Amino acid sequence: MTSQTPSDCLFCKIVAGEIPDDRVAESDRSIAFRDIKPAAPVHVLVVPRRHEPTVGALAAASDEDLADIFRLAARVAEQEGVPDAYRMIVNTGTAAGQTVFHAHVHVLAGAAFTEGRMV
Ligand code: 5GP
Ligand code: ZN
Repeated sequence: MTSQTPSDCLFCKIVAGEIPDDRVAESDRSIAFRDIKPAAPVHVLVVPRRHEPTVGALAAASDEDLADIFRLAARVAEQEGVPDAYRMIVNTGTAAGQTVFHAHVHVLAGAAFTEGRMV
């Protein structure tokens, strides 16, 4: 696992407003913005404001923050017009495709879902 800390964490910089993002929703605990390299017509990242490297670490740290990213993900799917047809993906670890070590959920929709990976 990487040793990224909040001071060099890309998503902490987005949370802090230091890097611009295409925001679609937010709550007091989480933000949701469009992925810079979309893998589907709807591709939104839901990110806790709190820095934890993985969703597992977030779950260990805060029930409320964990619940909130999934609540906000469902709200994003409603807003995007796909409340019954979306996929949530969480990559954990480099070997599984995680590239940003700040917990996040991908919300994907608008493409035919196959067995293959989307992100
Ligand atoms: P991971 O591979 O860690 O599961 O997902 C990280 C995601 O962050 C990737 O889908 C990547 O396209 C996205 N990403 C990387 N840098 C940026 C950025 O600066 N802005 C936005 N909006 N997305 C980013
Ligand atoms: Zn962070």
